[in-house]
Amino acid sequence: MSVIFKVRGTRDLLPPETELWSEVEATARAVFARYAFGEIRTPIFEDTALFARGVGEETDIVSKEMYTWEDRGRADSERVLSLTLRPENTAGVVRAYIEHKMNDSGALQKLFYIGPQFRRERPQRGRYRQFWQIGAEVLGPAFSGSESPLRDAEVLEMLATLLDTLGIRGWRLELNSVGSATDRPRYLEALRAALTPVKEKLSPDNQRRAETNPLRVLDSKDPKDQAIIETLPKIADYLDDASREHFEQVLLGLDACGIPYHLNPRLVRGLDYYTRTAFEFTVPDGSGLGTQNALLGGGRYDGLSEMLGGPKAPGIGFAIGEDRLVLTLQAQALESAPTPVRKLDAFIAPIGVAQNPAALELARELRGAGLSVEVGDGSFRLRRSFETADRLANRMVLVGEDEVASGMLTVKHFSAAEQTKVSREDLAAVLARR
Ligand code: AMP
Repeated sequence: MSVIFKVRGTRDLLPPETELWSEVEATARAVFARYAFGEIRTPIFEDTALFARGVGEETDIVSKEMYTWEDRGRADSERVLSLTLRPENTAGVVRAYIEHKMNDSGALQKLFYIGPQFRRERPQRGRYRQFWQIGAEVLGPAFSGSESPLRDAEVLEMLATLLDTLGIRGWRLELNSVGSATDRPRYLEALRAALTPVKEKLSPDNQRRAETNPLRVLDSKDPKDQAIIETLPKIADYLDDASREHFEQVLLGLDACGIPYHLNPRLVRGLDYYTRTAFEFTVPDGSGLGTQNALLGGGRYDGLSEMLGGPKAPGIGFAIGEDRLVLTLQAQALESAPTPVRKLDAFIAPIGVAQNPAALELARELRGAGLSVEVGDGSFRLRRSFETADRLANRMVLVGEDEVASGMLTVKHFSAAEQTKVSREDLAAVLARR
């Protein structure tokens, strides 16, 4: 039979690597809890229209990267729907916010999510077709303070704290204001005018963007376009007083917390919904990401709820690429001391298959006491049990006929190369010792 392999651009995450994934997620959950965020889980597939409207028809994501299919109805009465695997989670969160009338409480909502996203991108290191994002959103009616620059600064400060807590070294926060619904049109007009005479010299992709979505030209990674991009007007010169004041307040908040940042007037981000504050955190070259050095991105999306037919609910959010976070942690760990492999508390070795039930029962008792335990099989030779136990665990517990009858168990302590007899009552406490 031919072997079936995973689909291009997808990954299997195996132990022990998954331990790092769980640790990253546990740290994120702990940090989010300290900042009063609650978890939201939205469906992995949604109505295609959500992304077309929310993310924007002209974005790369919607125009060429979505996994979309016609979902035929099961009965004649069911409509045929166009469905899409979510390419990002903000649109889904805002849809849920609207659908569950979360605006009605008048409270500021602070929501986080952890889950897979799907984009048909060209796979390379740090870029996959199924990838994981850890993200958060802060949104609510304007009177809940959702528009306040304090929120932007709080989110950025939380991200700095999260990256520091995880032990990511050398991160860099790049920041820009991309303007609001009132000042952006003036800038777009100036940008279009500046692009018209130079359009022919741009790469083919950017010639198209210059027509459909000129802001995205600034985001071009094509080295040939850089000289032209340098000559284009900067959005900072077109911000109105309200946008400029908002951005200044964000920076004051960051200064007060001592969070370092770099202003990048070319930072626009690939999704249409962003307004005002836009940001990215990158890591230095050699951090395991190849050319994909953006760890996370985000920004403010004051008009998104209304674009999706909801009430006015300004907000700000971000998405961290969890695959990239893990790759960075792995690469940076290689530079420093290797992390010791974490071993189980005990390996239980039944002597003879007749002792298997007693061994299983002992394992249940110890696991119930909170210990990590593996059980061998009574058919193993003692030597094989010994080797397996030494590889997996700090100690080995022998379960033979005598031990079961007397209630005194033989414990081998690998680190001290000694063997002791321990009563069943004391066993859990002895095994818990480091
Ligand atoms: P975006 O949703 O495009 O703003 O991306 C936010 C973050 O998600 C990026 O900074 C990356 O870390 C991560 N990301 C986006 N696309 C991919 C992908 N195809 N593979 C892995 N990570 C990704």
